[in-house]
Amino acid sequence: MSKRTHFDYVIAGAGFAGAVVAEQMARNFDKKVLIVDRRPHIGGNAFDHHDAAGILVHKYGPHIFHTNSADVFNYLSKFTKWRNYEHRVLASVDGKLVPVPINLDTVNQLYNLNLTSDDIEAWFASVAEPRDSIRTSEDVVVSRVGRDLYEKMFRGYTRKQWGLDPSELDASVIARIPVRTNRDDRYFGDTYQAMPLLGYTHMFENILDHRNVTVVTGTDYRDVIDSVTYKELVYTGPIDEFFDYRFGKLPYRSLEFRHETLDTPQLQPVSVINYPNEHDYTRVTEFKQLTGQTHAKTSVVYEYPRAEGDPYYPIPRSQNAALYARYQALAAAVPHVHFVGRLATYKYYNMDQVVAQALTLCARISSVTRAHLIHQPVRTPGLDTGAILKAS
Ligand code: FAD
Ligand code: UDP
Repeated sequence: MSKRTHFDYVIAGAGFAGAVVAEQMARNFDKKVLIVDRRPHIGGNAFDHHDAAGILVHKYGPHIFHTNSADVFNYLSKFTKWRNYEHRVLASVDGKLVPVPINLDTVNQLYNLNLTSDDIEAWFASVAEPRDSIRTSEDVVVSRVGRDLYEKMFRGYTRKQWGLDPSELDASVIARIPVRTNRDDRYFGDTYQAMPLLGYTHMFENILDHRNVTVVTGTDYRDVIDSVTYKELVYTGPIDEFFDYRFGKLPYRSLEFRHETLDTPQLQPVSVINYPNEHDYTRVTEFKQLTGQTHAKTSVVYEYPRAEGDPYYPIPRSQNAALYARYQALAAAVPHVHFVGRLATYKYYNMDQVVAQALTLCARISSVTRAHLIHQPVRTPGLDTGAILKAS
């Protein structure tokens, strides 16, 4: 990059938020875009790569795509083919491996019962502890399935994952996990559930593959910002860091990932096993079961929650929302800077929600509708979008 190269947009962060804005501005509006990530790769937390054994692994923990938004699914389908995949998780509880989310089989297996779908609501009602209002994550579970299932399935996992008791976390955290009265053992109930056929990084390469987009990795945007000219900045990093922690640090939860390759074709009966009550890690993911790859060995990752380290999760609780609101007010007053994504808007968002948020931002900046943006065609060499699959 020569000194004082001009860009319409500089984008800090090449995860979903940054990549979608880059793609839209470059392709739909012919803007010159510089996208910079301080990590040595694109894809943000969704980055995947082949490990030393040649197995496709997710460097920052398991990423399973799911959405109810046809817009988001169709948009991403311009950049990847999909592998149909419905996620299933078991939890190790009382020496058994039982389905999560809680369903009929979870209850029957844990309590040696033989309930049917007709009986189970009455059973839940018999163990539930009614609450006047549902404010915390403890309220969500205890008021629905009672204290014992709460202790077995949620309390320990949550204390490990967040370093907080569920009674200290917003209801929205555990409300992510439904309770089922049938035998449906899928982790997600969304209309579209799939994995990018050749991986997330490959999909990001297609998203960013445009003559108007310059990608720089391994570089903090602050190290290049003074050597270029630009009109707009899009920031997808932690919002408190952008403002040099003026009001103090916003809490983000971190994880340490322990990746291992084992000399066996399969370790677990399903791709993810949760450990609510045992071990320092929360869950173990076996990647081949997500990707469908065939290999004589298998690669897994253990997730150890940490207070310090890279920021992965905003922590949903009222005092953090109040601190974020102060930063948000500062952000709203900075002209020509746009904050988008999980870290910059301090929202516990899934990938699809970040894509939707980024598309909405692009529509707002350009004064067009989101539908207008999504329906623009893309020509990516070799990409046969006829192979889009919809989960059944
Ligand atoms: P990120 O992916 O965090 O990207 C932000 C990027 O900005 C980073 O690459 C960072 O290096 C860069 N950056 C920050 N500051 C700077 C700077 N100063 N200069 C340059 N670059 C900078 N979602 C799902 O839908 N399904 C899942 O199964 C799922 N599993 C998950 C599992 C884990 C362990 C985690 C942590 C998240 C999971 N998610 C999942 C959520 C998903 O990762 C996020 O929704 C999504 O990646 C957010 O994209 P983003 O662009 O907002 O942020
Ligand atoms: N959770 C739990 N037990 C489980 C699974 C989830 O207590 O077996 C709680 C926990 O607080 C977790 C939250 O539900 O952080 C959301 O779970 P999810 O699997 O959505 O977390 P993520 O994949 O975002 O880490």
